Amino acid sequence: MNVETVILPPLPLRGGCQCGAVRYTIDEAPLAFYLCHCTNCQRQSSSIAGASMLTRVQAVSVEGRPRTARWSAESGAQKSGQFCPECGVRLFHGSLEGGPDDRITIKAGTLDDTSWLRPAGHIWTSSAMRGFRFDEDELTYPRQPPDYEHLKERWRQMLAQG
Ligand SMILES: [Zn+2]
Ligand SMILES: [Zn+2]
Repeated sequence: MNVETVILPPLPLRGGCQCGAVRYTIDEAPLAFYLCHCTNCQRQSSSIAGASMLTRVQAVSVEGRPRTARWSAESGAQKSGQFCPECGVRLFHGSLEGGPDDRITIKAGTLDDTSWLRPAGHIWTSSAMRGFRFDEDELTYPRQPPDYEHLKERWRQMLAQG
């Protein structure tokens, strides 16, 4: 199997919204990075997919005052995330106070440096934009994965090679 290489930049990772009112740092290697092609992510990102970087909430420090957005997932689950009230850019999904599993996803397009990112896999490929191609080697799920363990494992392998 052909595993892509990821070279993690020196920590902390830094990012923020478009106007700079909300900035953040991440003090440890993220747990996984994947693209979500669900229609909710297409809408919230106003783009073709959500770029989700799964991270321990304890590793994230935020400057500024993001506001909370709430919506219902296709499963009916209630979700929330944070956005900049000045420029509207979505930054995080999950609670910065820490949820039951203390995980949040960083909307990875907000990183100052996105050049090193390679997705460990793709979820909700059943609603991916037509023409989007997935390699046979890639980890793909037509809908919600049962859990994120395989995506995290693949990400660890990619990091280990970097
Ligand atoms: Zn902003
Ligand atoms: Zn999604």
